[in-house]
Amino acid sequence: MTYALVINSGSSSVKFQIVDPTADAAAEPFASGLVEQIGEPSGRITIKHAGDKHVVQQPVPNHTVGLEAAMKILDSLGAGPTQVDVSAVGHRVVHGGMVFSHPELINDQVVEMIRDLIPLAPLHNPANIDGIEVARKLLPDLPHVAVFDTGFFRDLPPSSAIYAINAEVATENQIRRYGFHGTSHEFVSGQVPALLDMPAGSVNQIVLHLGNGASASAVRGGDPIDTSMGMTPLAGLVMGTRCGDIDPGIIFHLARNGGMSIDEIDNLLNRKSGVKGLSGVNDFRDLHRLIDEDNDDAALAYDVYIHQLRRVIGSYMIALGRVDAISFTAGVGENDVATRRDALAGLQHYGIKIDPERNETRSDGARLISTDDSTTRVFVVPTNEELAIAQKATALAKQ
Ligand code: AMP
Repeated sequence: MTYALVINSGSSSVKFQIVDPTADAAAEPFASGLVEQIGEPSGRITIKHAGDKHVVQQPVPNHTVGLEAAMKILDSLGAGPTQVDVSAVGHRVVHGGMVFSHPELINDQVVEMIRDLIPLAPLHNPANIDGIEVARKLLPDLPHVAVFDTGFFRDLPPSSAIYAINAEVATENQIRRYGFHGTSHEFVSGQVPALLDMPAGSVNQIVLHLGNGASASAVRGGDPIDTSMGMTPLAGLVMGTRCGDIDPGIIFHLARNGGMSIDEIDNLLNRKSGVKGLSGVNDFRDLHRLIDEDNDDAALAYDVYIHQLRRVIGSYMIALGRVDAISFTAGVGENDVATRRDALAGLQHYGIKIDPERNETRSDGARLISTDDSTTRVFVVPTNEELAIAQKATALAKQ
């Protein structure tokens, strides 16, 4: 069996998986791990392999110590990347700017190009680079591949990519819609033609990636024509803790009259807003529990979330003209029956009709949840970004 090691390096955590790139989307990875609380006095490394979970508490001052320690634990289990047949290392990189549309074999020059994009993703790209540098040192003989969250949306039509702000200022500051969650939108939309038994080039579809972060895309013949996240992942749908689209004038108001600094506003809109900002919780299981207890704030948060989601779905229906499929994916999209029902309720006149029983029936793989007479077919398609990165890294390393 040949595997890929997939690394998703954040500022204070590193997630990784050793995955069979030919596996089913719902299959458990061969091994997975999480290094947490990097740079804090206490750290934790969790490894899952062969049905067992191994937790080690130890200080993890930096990414190097964390990944080295994690690899040692994997080695002690006989599951280390140099012990099993790993053919490529795939790195999730958040921002590829206008530079990268496809996965890239990593060399020193590519690392520098990702570094040049730090102003566009000041929280994410530095952490991604840390992961790349540490992994290249630990596993120098393997090909390392960068897979970009923005890549799928690199060639959005200008009418959806360009913001109507002063063109000179926008160009100088690289301001445009980049879109995120691209690996997931590509992975999910790529499965839909087979589900419809239609050639990929003729499918018009909407993908709703509803997790803690959330984004939608409109895809025509395999190419995205619009997406809800923007220059940053703050835009678009209401999310777990992010506000999604708001009047940009609110930011001036908070700075001028609310006495808040730019950093405070950034923190407010990214971490203390969205469903959490309205209800106190960001997990939809907690939100529904509160709604069942007649909590008005939770009910309002859910209504605002659904309203914004429907607004975006409606605009993509117009942009596409004919919609062959709508797919729900990620934590909320795959699991929350009510969100799927309410997002598409009352749209039978547009040929969209969810079957309540199919909507409630769970299964591991992709499944149809619309009625047989729904002209737009509605699916739940589990996403698996790690598997998608593993597939891309393996394919590129083979070339
Ligand atoms: P993700 O970012 O894709 O991992 O999604 C995480 C989110 O999915 C959580 O914050 C929950 O809101 C949601 N979620 C996960 N499991 C369930 C579930 N069984 N029912 C409803 N929502 C869920």
